[in-house]
Amino acid sequence: MFICKNCKSVDKFELMFAPGYKGAKNYKQEYNKDKDIVITVDGYTFIPDLNFMNHHAVCRYCGQIYMWDYADAGKGTN
Ligand SMILES: [Zn+2]
Repeated sequence: MFICKNCKSVDKFELMFAPGYKGAKNYKQEYNKDKDIVITVDGYTFIPDLNFMNHHAVCRYCGQIYMWDYADAGKGTN
């Protein structure tokens, strides 16, 4: 899970697509059995890391970008 460092909302984001992106921009987010967020974009499924979030995700509540952190303590910090 990812938390917005500005407004503290968790996993409330939309993806920004590059201006030249030609796909249909259909995406969905789900959770796997490990509670990792899983994103599917135009049929391509992946687990986003913090680097991806801070480049491609915009907070749906406050509109901030580049403000994400891991919401579950310990994850990605070992
Ligand atoms: Zn926010």
